[in-house]
Amino acid sequence: MKHLAILGSTGSIGQSTLSIVEQFPERYAVAALAAGHNIDETFKQAVRWRPKIVSLATEELAGELAARLKKAGVTGIEVVHGTEGTIACVMLPETDFVVSAIVGVSGLEATYQAILAGKPLGLANKECMVAAGEILTRAARERKVPILPIDSEHNAVHQCLRVGQHNEVKYIWLTASGGPFRQTPIEKFESITPEQALKHPTWVMGRRITIDSASMLNKGLEVIEACRLFDVTAKQVRVTVHPQSTVHSLVEYVDGSILAQISVTDMRLPILYALAYPERPASNLTFDLATLSHLEFEQPDLERFPCLRLAYEAAEKGGAHCIALNAADEVAVAAFLDHRTSFMGIPRTIEKVLAATPEAHPATIAEVLAADQEARERARTLLVN
Ligand code: MG
Repeated sequence: MKHLAILGSTGSIGQSTLSIVEQFPERYAVAALAAGHNIDETFKQAVRWRPKIVSLATEELAGELAARLKKAGVTGIEVVHGTEGTIACVMLPETDFVVSAIVGVSGLEATYQAILAGKPLGLANKECMVAAGEILTRAARERKVPILPIDSEHNAVHQCLRVGQHNEVKYIWLTASGGPFRQTPIEKFESITPEQALKHPTWVMGRRITIDSASMLNKGLEVIEACRLFDVTAKQVRVTVHPQSTVHSLVEYVDGSILAQISVTDMRLPILYALAYPERPASNLTFDLATLSHLEFEQPDLERFPCLRLAYEAAEKGGAHCIALNAADEVAVAAFLDHRTSFMGIPRTIEKVLAATPEAHPATIAEVLAADQEARERARTLLVN
């Protein structure tokens, strides 16, 4: 029986993780839940799953949740808050597996603490790997702590890598759906609206990641994530546009063999894989091969999607540039959703921020968070239309 701490329990990954726990009660139990501001959902989850500890973003929210639980006659749940609260969920002695699915760098400290404590990690938070991947993966290797990627592409790569040796890998191929503007003429890119960009063809996701998919910045973050997780260079990570989103990613070996992972487009499968690794429990997440009539793979167009080019540049430099890429994008995407910059203002802002970022390799999580703040301020100053 694995006892989970789910960081980001009310988000889509958190909820999918809970549905896996529901399906496999003989394998998984909930030890701790960490959420942000969604107190109603957190209350429901606490009542349903009876964890030992629950964390919310602020002291006020934690106080309100504690009062609601008391009123409902639910006892024995400790309610905590903030970064310390999230860390307490990880450090709980009962917790023996951590699902890290808090969006943004706010889950970074707790993710790092999980590794230091030797607790295996299912990682759905790509910003952590982008901003602090060098630190996290070094600590994990030293302590032999498995980091199981939940991001569908990296999960696919992890599966494909199990059949070969590290030095036999030629390329990691990350598939990209191409987003809603795959076939949009380049001259229309300047006038793309937030409403158009929020329509995503395959996956239903949060707002920032949906915009990041439309700009392909998301794929760029995944390139960096792949470099860190699998210890390969940026040149070894390639992106292929695969509109069907059926092949979740591929690994090309030096002998010419290419292995692909195919499955339903359902996040519960990578979550189950991460939770159960190295086992493969039987599930009902089957894929009907007969529905596969054709698969397309195209080269990504870096002219229409400059965010991808910028991500490769950041991946080569590492450290502060990867932090700046992520931070500048978050600031620029918020501005875009707010109609304060254009769709192409996102890459233009990122490019300016990257150019203004001195090369540096933060060595601690505190330094990463400081560099992240610095990059956000820089992005707010340099924001262009
Ligand atoms: Mg992905």
